[in-house]
Order: sequence, then C-alpha cells, then structure tokens
Amino acid sequence: MSIQLTRKYRPQTFAEVVGQDFIKQVLSRAALENKVAHVYLFSGTRGVGKTTIARILAKTINCEKFPTAEPCNKCSNCIAITKGISPDVLEIDGASHTGVDNVRKLREDVFLPPISGNYKVIIIDEAHMLSKAAFNAFLKTLEEPPKHCVFIFATTEPERFPITIISRSQHYVFNALTQSQIESHLQNILNLEGIKYELQAISLIAKRADGSIRDSMSLLAQVLALSGNELQEEDVRKILGLAGEELFQRLFESLIQENLIELHNLVEYLREQGLDLGFFIKEFGLYWRNLFLIAQLKNEANKILGWERDKLDYWINLSKQFGIKRIHASWQMVVEAQRTILKNVDPILDLELLFFNLAYLSKLLGVEELIIEDKRGEIENKISLEKNLNLTLKKRTEKILNEKKDDQEIKEHPLVKKIIEEFDARILAVVKS
Ligand SMILES: [Zn+2]
Repeated sequence: MSIQLTRKYRPQTFAEVVGQDFIKQVLSRAALENKVAHVYLFSGTRGVGKTTIARILAKTINCEKFPTAEPCNKCSNCIAITKGISPDVLEIDGASHTGVDNVRKLREDVFLPPISGNYKVIIIDEAHMLSKAAFNAFLKTLEEPPKHCVFIFATTEPERFPITIISRSQHYVFNALTQSQIESHLQNILNLEGIKYELQAISLIAKRADGSIRDSMSLLAQVLALSGNELQEEDVRKILGLAGEELFQRLFESLIQENLIELHNLVEYLREQGLDLGFFIKEFGLYWRNLFLIAQLKNEANKILGWERDKLDYWINLSKQFGIKRIHASWQMVVEAQRTILKNVDPILDLELLFFNLAYLSKLLGVEELIIEDKRGEIENKISLEKNLNLTLKKRTEKILNEKKDDQEIKEHPLVKKIIEEFDARILAVVKS
C-alpha cells in the first residue's frame, strides 16, 4: 500500500510538485530557454522534493520536446527516465558510493555522449556522504564538465560540502513544507482516492511529518493500510503511537493536583505504549502555548484555536487554576526539554523529572518570589541609604552656601566696609612710599 500510494502520486511535472515555487520556476524556465547549468546543488531537509525535482529536470532536458518548460511524459525518453531505466540518467547514492573508485568509473562514463537524450544527467543523492578523495576526483570533472553533462548534487548537509564544489554550482535551498501545504496535498490525494477523512486526522499526520512531504505520504499509507476506508483521528493516534486529548487532560489535572503517583503512572503508560516521545513533547509544548493564549485572551483565544465550546470551557477552567505566571514558566520549561530530552540516554526518566518539576513549579515559583522579595528589600535599603547620603550632602551644601551668604552679609556691614577701606588705603600708602 505504502509503495503504491507514494509511486502513484509521485509528481511527474514541475507543476505537480508541492511547494518550492521559486526553484520550480527557475529550473523550468532554464529548460525552456535552453540555459541549463552543468552543476546544481540542491540542499534542504529530507523529503522536501530535492530528488523528485532533480528527476523532473533530467526528464525535461532529455524530453523529445526539449527545449520545453515541462516534460511531455509520453516520449520514449520521458518514459524510460520515469521507469528509472534510461542509460542517460544515472542516480548514485552518495552513502553507498563513497569510494574514489566509483567516482573514477563515473568520470570515464560521463565523457561518453548521451545515448538517446540530449544530456547525460548524474544525480548524486546524499552527496555529503562522499569521501574526500571522491570529492577531489569529482572536482577535476567539475572544473571542465563535458558540454553534454549535468551534475545534480542533492544533500541535507550542504555545510559538509567542499567550498570548491559549492562555488562551481548553482545552489538551490529547498524549504521545509508548511503544515497547510502538506494538509492540502493529503486532502487532495484522499479526495482522488475517494476516501473519507476527519480534518483532525489529516492535520495530525501533517504535523507528525514535520515539513517532509515524503514522510506525510508514508504515514498516510501506513495509517490507511491498518484503518480501512476511512481516516479517523483516533486511528491515526493509535497507529502512529500518538497521545490523545484524554491523556493530556489527565496529565494537566495531575500536575495541578501535584499527584506524583498519577504522573508516574502516566510516564509508565507512555513507556508501555511505546508512544513517539519526540512528538509527545512537541504536542505537550503546544498544549502549554494554547493554555497561555487562553489565560491571556479567554474566549477570544478561540479565534486562533477554533475549538468546540466544551473543550474551550475545560481549558479556560484549567488555565485559571494554573495562573498565567505558572503557565508561562511551564511552557518555557517544556520548550527547553524539547531540545534536551531526546538526546539523553534514558529520555523517559527525564520526562518523569520534567513532570515532577512541573507539578512542584508553584513551590519553586514561591522560592523565586521570595528571592525577588529579598532583592526588593536590598534595593529599598540602597535607596534609603542614598536618600540619607543626599540629605547629608544637601545639608552640607546648604551650610556652605549659608556660610558664603554670611560672608557676604558681613562684608556688606557698614562697619566692616569701613575697616576694609581703611586697610586697603594703608596698603596703598605703603606701596606709594
Ligand atoms: Zn518527453
């Protein structure tokens, strides 16, 4: 089923590929205007269409209708390439052809002209896996590629590519697909297959595929193979090992009740069911984000969430019990855990620790507030000290000013004036004599 569905809906033209609009447009125009480059580098995360677009490009430039914007998919060249039996299109897996011997053999091959098409196209998948020696062997060919040759390197890790190869290639960066792009693609397929579906089920598969169209297809096939002729959210969760709403409600209630035994039972349940932990933690983070929105916006949050009334009321009630401060701190902790838990030796143990920390966060927050109180005391002390200091300074300044004022007053006293004048006159007399 999996292979059937993926093969049946594998795009055969640029237009059929989901997303990557800019790249499709540029390559299609290059084929139409007969301005094909000799070395391409396609980079991007897995399952976003790099190899698919490479094959379509190979087909377009070898089609009997070339130069053309799309392959005809009817001529013998197109058909042979689709079937993977064209002698002019070589697909190499970088992971299993890492040796220099493979590349040497390839270099001999590329100098032979194409047999039935216009170009010899060499597609190197997982190209970052090639050995350094293999890269060097390639480099000699890439410096002066034969006119009839097109190399397409596809990689998930362009940073592992020698700069000498990158500088000789046209580099295209493929984007991960958006949730809605994947959703509408899956809906499209289900409509064509005449299979009924729940929107939530589609959304869940798209989320689980995490930007990869290929993963979304194989997940869909996996679920359909076991669930029969209707795609339901419950089946998707069961088959893909995803935790449901009910489990999350139990989890949040246990957190608010600080019920460690129930939290431990939940962790055991996750372990026994072999649920997908990576996805679970992501969804857990999403629940906190939703709770944050609800705590801040109340009913208004539903403009974003679009939930049913009962569900919204349930979470509004829960958000009040947690309080905005605790929700925000918990959300941050879970996002942080997303980064670390899966890298740990025993992620399930770390998950338990996370649950316990979240349960006791109110007490931890209490400590934090105390610390803030302490600091506030400290700051207040400082302020009063400064006030005192200022007061002293002010008094001293006033005193000095007063003294000066006194000085002035004394100087202006008629008697003093007279004495000073007499004094000055005497000095003048002495100087004159
Ligand atoms: Zn054709």
